[in-house]
Amino acid sequence: MAVKNVNLCVCIFLFLVALPLYSQANPSKPKAEKPSPFEFIKHLEGCHKGEKVEGLQQLKAYLEKFGYLNYNHSQNQNHANDDDFDDLLEAAVKTYQLNYHLKATGTLDAKTVSQMMKPRCGNADIINGTNWMRGGKKRPDHGHNALHTVSHYSFFQGNPKWPSNQLTYAFLPGTNSNAQSAVARAFDKWAAQTHFTFSRSQNLGSVNLKIGFGRLEHGDGVPFDGRGGTVAHAAAPTDGRFHYDADESWSMGAEPNAIDYETVALHEIGHLLGLDHSSVREAIMYSEVPVGATKGLHGDDIQGIKALYNIA
Ligand SMILES: [Zn+2]
Ligand SMILES: [Zn+2]
Repeated sequence: MAVKNVNLCVCIFLFLVALPLYSQANPSKPKAEKPSPFEFIKHLEGCHKGEKVEGLQQLKAYLEKFGYLNYNHSQNQNHANDDDFDDLLEAAVKTYQLNYHLKATGTLDAKTVSQMMKPRCGNADIINGTNWMRGGKKRPDHGHNALHTVSHYSFFQGNPKWPSNQLTYAFLPGTNSNAQSAVARAFDKWAAQTHFTFSRSQNLGSVNLKIGFGRLEHGDGVPFDGRGGTVAHAAAPTDGRFHYDADESWSMGAEPNAIDYETVALHEIGHLLGLDHSSVREAIMYSEVPVGATKGLHGDDIQGIKALYNIA
């Protein structure tokens, strides 16, 4: 009996002492930020051809996703799923470096790694595949040594565009009012520079453009990746889908560590209208998405849309 009482006392004592410690410990603990989906690239700094380093397989998948690498078109198919830094990977890194105004060394130097880790649009920079974002057609194969680079503005494969200049849009259920007003302002800015008019409708079933949020796999076969990494994507004409990644930290205007709704809307509307990524850093169609800053339409974007639609 006495032993039992002692045990009970110890238990109560532990409970009383431990509880406040525990509850104090929690708020002071820094909130564990989930690492960006692109965090793995950091560890690859300094890698070059001929090396075998864990994580290169993930880098191959990254470069394939953004259009820089396609092992299916090469005789090296078996290297798609290993950590070998081969010729094909080196060529892809060089093309990436050219597109982002970096020295085309083919080595994963610090500047290249830093650029690759930045949050970006989920659409590819180079269109060579067959998913719904890429128009479903393949570009002529120039062989794996050819450097495909983005020169200022660009269009999707086959230059798809809208036959009408009066487009309608609607928001998917669950789209918050901040995003809705930012998207509306972005449409106004594109309308002011082009022959397009954009009118909002409540009827999702009959509109040209459908805008909303998605998280991870969200039904279009192009999954998002949690916080960081890819932050939004949109399809070429005349598909009309534009999705924000619901896992990002979004803001109205420039806020530290957050991404501005309107800046991203301007970029994704560019895709909806038929523009692909531009290599002009200041252009809204540059693939990198600014964090804690805003951006507007640039001359390169306007020139691009005017060229696509033959507007004088
Ligand atoms: Zn984009
Ligand atoms: Zn989507």
